[in-house]
Amino acid sequence: MALDLRKLQSSICEFCSGTGWEPVDENGVRPCRCRAEDRRNQTLAAARIPKRYENCTFDTYKPKSAADEAGISQRIALHASKYIVDQYPDIEIGLLFLGSCGVGKTHLATAIIKALAFHKGISCLFYDFRDLLKEIQDSYNPVSQMTELKVLEPVYDAEVLVLDELGASKPTDWVRDTMTQIINTRYNDRKLTVMTSNYLDEPQNPNEETLTDRVGVRLRSRLHEMCKVVLIKGDDYRLKLNQARGRKP
Ligand code: ADP
Repeated sequence: MALDLRKLQSSICEFCSGTGWEPVDENGVRPCRCRAEDRRNQTLAAARIPKRYENCTFDTYKPKSAADEAGISQRIALHASKYIVDQYPDIEIGLLFLGSCGVGKTHLATAIIKALAFHKGISCLFYDFRDLLKEIQDSYNPVSQMTELKVLEPVYDAEVLVLDELGASKPTDWVRDTMTQIINTRYNDRKLTVMTSNYLDEPQNPNEETLTDRVGVRLRSRLHEMCKVVLIKGDDYRLKLNQARGRKP
């Protein structure tokens, strides 16, 4: 194949000539600015944000009109999310988004880590809690190459962690103990955690389970200490999206 010299020349960085090191004075060098974008993209990829949420940013989050209660709660949630990004690392309290299905909890949680990873170079990680518990369970299988510690290491190490769908797994003793261990470890290490749950503290329907029913009193109280609760109200946005695309719910 013929070598396109013009293309090659234009793709070679003018600051480092492709070495990755940019001269700063007569003798000094520093990592070239052309690598910064690569590093940001690597940090973002390491956050493992699911493909479904890859377009979720603060800009693509559209709160409802401030004229109704749901709109106000969505605007508060957006503001609280941006505040975390602006203030990090000078902030110790994470967020716990509560609300029914499809109100944008995961959207905002991913927007937070996306902004932190890309703009501030912070190591972040996304996990659906159900997947995490499953991976831990699978690690007990002797055939599996993974150990529990291997699964949990990145969860403990990430500077900012999103745990999506807290309380969605059937609350057996093992599930509660494992959730408590993970969240306590991050609390003790003073690492920021952003969580979402469909279970509320005070559900409208008294027959519905509360978040405490799902995670236990001990963990609920820990969550109070380490997160600000942000209640998001509104309708299921997925239905709105499907209707706009002409699909049946
Ligand atoms: P939840 O986590 O509350 O169940 P999601 O965050 O998964 O809801 O939202 C479901 C879908 O609707 C996602 O595609 C999300 O991007 C979109 N969505 C939800 N709320 C909004 C909003 N206010 N503006 C734009 N997209 C939204």
